[in-house]
Amino acid sequence: MESGYIEKKRILIVEDEPSIADNIAFAVETENMEPVRAGTAGEAWRFLQAQPIDLVVLDVGLPDESGFDFCRRIRSRSDVPIIFLTAREQEIDRIVGLELGADDYMAKPFSPRELTARIRAILRRSNGNRPPVQPMQTPSVFEIDSLRKEIIYHGRPLGLSRYEYRMLELMIQHPGQVFSREQLMEHAWDEPGASLDRTVDTHIKTLRSKLREIDPDSDCLQTRRGWGYCLKVDP
Ligand code: CA
Repeated sequence: MESGYIEKKRILIVEDEPSIADNIAFAVETENMEPVRAGTAGEAWRFLQAQPIDLVVLDVGLPDESGFDFCRRIRSRSDVPIIFLTAREQEIDRIVGLELGADDYMAKPFSPRELTARIRAILRRSNGNRPPVQPMQTPSVFEIDSLRKEIIYHGRPLGLSRYEYRMLELMIQHPGQVFSREQLMEHAWDEPGASLDRTVDTHIKTLRSKLREIDPDSDCLQTRRGWGYCLKVDP
């Protein structure tokens, strides 16, 4: 063993069945690697953006997105090794046939020790020739020009009012975070008390139409019913 501190390999386990995720996490820990658990593709996507992950164990049947689609989505942004977990024979054909870019697969039920052996093998193989795995970056379609008080969207200025600018700036700086109308008002208005909730809605509406003038399919500014608004993180 080399001297010095060696960082543990971080394994993202994307599996919605808690008992299976438990078993994998336990086996991964036993092998002196660090398990990170996600029960949905959405949660896993956030982990991939937030921290370096060395390998993904990916269940095909997830509640919010098929493992196949999620694998494609990861591959569009990252070379992180992926091992599929599948419960059905037909899925194996698809994993092999679709060339999704997965590194390996295991059919359920499987032995967690067999899985960790494969994880080790892939990490050994990939160690030499893969660049270290970094968190995925969300490619920014927005640019904030704070001197000109302007926000550029897909390379074009949005032409925002002061309130619109302040609200959008806040959401760009915290992508995915849901802001209530009160929070947006607090941030954007000089005298928040004087305004009504629906004033925020009105500004959000014009913001949306300005975004759609540049990109007609834009749906990045999302309403969370009963909560408020947020900027979508996913592409
Ligand atoms: Ca499942």
